[in-house]
Amino acid sequence: MIRLRDFERIVFFTGAGLSAESGIPTYRGQGGIWHEYNYEEYACQRAFDRDPDKVWDFHDLRRQKIGACDPNEGHAIIAEVQREIAGTRIVTQNIDGLHQRAGSREVVELHGSIWRVRCTRTGEIVEDFEVPIASRRSPAGGWWRPDIVWFEDSLDHDTIAAAQDAIAGCDLLISIGTSGVVFPAAQLPRIALQSGATLVEINPEETVVSSWYQHHLRGPASQMLTDLWR
Ligand code: NAD
Repeated sequence: MIRLRDFERIVFFTGAGLSAESGIPTYRGQGGIWHEYNYEEYACQRAFDRDPDKVWDFHDLRRQKIGACDPNEGHAIIAEVQREIAGTRIVTQNIDGLHQRAGSREVVELHGSIWRVRCTRTGEIVEDFEVPIASRRSPAGGWWRPDIVWFEDSLDHDTIAAAQDAIAGCDLLISIGTSGVVFPAAQLPRIALQSGATLVEINPEETVVSSWYQHHLRGPASQMLTDLWR
């Protein structure tokens, strides 16, 4: 039986499944946005270059939907663990900001955040929580674009390095609610495997990377985290 209190350097590696209980659909699950919207029209740089207003209309809608959701018990437990066990780090593929709203800090956001925008002219990045966004044009004369990793974008180099650093130094890695098919994020937990850490997968379903993990907790994130912590 794994108990979180037996570890000192925990990494929570989280994906869309963690936020499913908050009402945000997973990527591939039922209700997932990419069943409804073609990413080539709404979530890639080419689409933004072609028609930024159309892409912003879509992202304003996403901000509105995500903003109406609250962190769930799973996010709350992770924040509590981080407060009590100082060496706890969070690496997420989610863009929803729910870890931070639950009280977590220094979250490594591999795929960016829906709550930040980046100037297409200067590269300046600012937080922006307004829905809809107050101005789509930046003061520098460019556009603000959502600071998220769209399809065909590369991940930010420093962000990957921060994730690798956290994972290489952990004694326990807990993967939660990720299908393990979105690369390069999906392969990061292998670093913990190679360095001899204990690996736990929380997911109601088996995944293509389940064999990396010594322990499998097959159930919803909030319940499985409660069992590990309380
Ligand atoms: P994914 O949709 O590919 O996989 C989700 C996984 O969560 C599945 O394996 C599923 O079995 C599992 N799951 C479903 N309900 C769960 C629950 N209650 N508890 C635990 N696990 C549960 O998600 P992914 O691997 O994170 O990749 C999707 C990509 O799309 C990510 O890169 C992410 O940036 C983006 N995305 C983000 C959000 C968000 O920010 N909340 C939502 C959808 C997609």
